[in-house]
Amino acid sequence: MIMSSAKAVTIVGAGPVGLLAALGLAKSGIAVNVLERAKGVISSPRAIAYHWSCLEGLSELGLLEEALQVGFSKQDYCYIEYLTGDRIEYSLDVLEGRTKFPYNLHLGQHLLAEIALRKLAAYPNAAVHWGVNVTDITQDAEGVSVQAVGPSGELEFRSGWLVGADGAGSTVRSKLGLEFEGITWPKRFVAANLYLDFSKYGFARSTFLIDSTFGAIIVKLDRNDLWRCTYSEDVNLPEESIPERMREFLGVIVPDAKDYKLDAYSPYRMHQRAATKFRVGRVLLAGDAAHATNPSGGYGLVGGLFDVYALYKALAAVVQGRAGDELLDRYAEDRRRVFLEIVSPAASENKRMIFDTSDPAQRAADMAKIRHLAADKATLLERLMLTSRMSSEPLALSAMLPQSETI
Ligand SMILES: Cc1cc2nc3c(=O)[nH]c(=O)nc-3n(C[C@H](O)[C@H](O)[C@H](O)COP(=O)(O)OP(=O)(O)OC[C@H]3O[C@@H](n4cnc5c(N)ncnc54)[C@H](O)[C@@H]3O)c2cc1C
Repeated sequence: MIMSSAKAVTIVGAGPVGLLAALGLAKSGIAVNVLERAKGVISSPRAIAYHWSCLEGLSELGLLEEALQVGFSKQDYCYIEYLTGDRIEYSLDVLEGRTKFPYNLHLGQHLLAEIALRKLAAYPNAAVHWGVNVTDITQDAEGVSVQAVGPSGELEFRSGWLVGADGAGSTVRSKLGLEFEGITWPKRFVAANLYLDFSKYGFARSTFLIDSTFGAIIVKLDRNDLWRCTYSEDVNLPEESIPERMREFLGVIVPDAKDYKLDAYSPYRMHQRAATKFRVGRVLLAGDAAHATNPSGGYGLVGGLFDVYALYKALAAVVQGRAGDELLDRYAEDRRRVFLEIVSPAASENKRMIFDTSDPAQRAADMAKIRHLAADKATLLERLMLTSRMSSEPLALSAMLPQSETI
């Protein structure tokens, strides 16, 4: 037994959700242990875009300034219909004067995790245990026990509460006996990080190329010429030959770009799934362990960040005796509702529009809708509010905690 405290929290998973939750709890004075099976932060190509509405939460955690220095802020969006070349642009500048952060942040999720890790190092009440694979959990009225295998053998951790932030294949979720209800889309998606300046070929820093064969999401990744191109292909094609097919794909969508350097790529399946519950007793789920969405539109980690913002404040209040544990039921119910009612339908609709629509009439209707958005400020503002509705924080906290007690 290497740790035992009824007031401590164990977090399984040092992805961005686990590390940011740990930082929020540590800042609130809670003892927190993060258990991560990898030896360090995982850097495969995943989330890159953070909507304006989740930046306030990053700022509260003390992460935004450095995140904007390492990554960058941007306002431009572009939709291009591949077959016709029809192109529509809009900007987040309509948010200026309405929010402190009227832009999106672009930053690889591993870089956000590393910034959080550096901040966490300043808190003696927080520790991250690398190379620790959680294999089982059991709970009773007083706390949760975690069985794990670490670099030097079997380990057991005991704490008052546990957060499962161990990603879409969550061990915590499966040990709770919870189903991950929903669907897995039948295509393979490939996320490729490329040194290729797409802006030279007319792409905005967030571009949606609309086509049922050549659909792609093209996003600038850093302050240099690293860009992300995400596209789809038949899941039955061999994974080993992805780089060759990628060259063919890029030869079609940017025929003038003769040369590029492939930095990294990852093939993946897309899901729309949610755990049947986000809380079982003293165990809570957050991030992809609780809900997984296809990333068209960038709502996956953003949904996970809104989990974090609600969870660390609620859990700190419960551990410190400032609120009853029904606050955690509010967390669990509202985060599940937000995923099922807002995040998952919006992401599925984006995916349909970008990757799956072969009917020209439907595509024309989609383009007309986007054209209206771009031309009408009120409609655009209403659309941009979508991601602020993915937050639960005001609901959970203002209803349950006196204002003076918020952190
Ligand atoms: C190609 C792609 C692009 C994306 N783009 C965006 C985007 O632009 N914007 C956006 O918001 N979202 C995006 N997403 C979604 C985003 O990547 C995920 O929502 C995000 O990774 C979830 O973070 P997490 O911390 O919950 O889980 P993860 O990042 O999966 O982290 C889970 C951690 O738990 C660890 N772990 C697992 N099991 C155990 C165990 N048994 N014991 C100990 N540790 C364990 C893992 O090693 C891992 O480090 C994208 C996803 C993909 C695939």
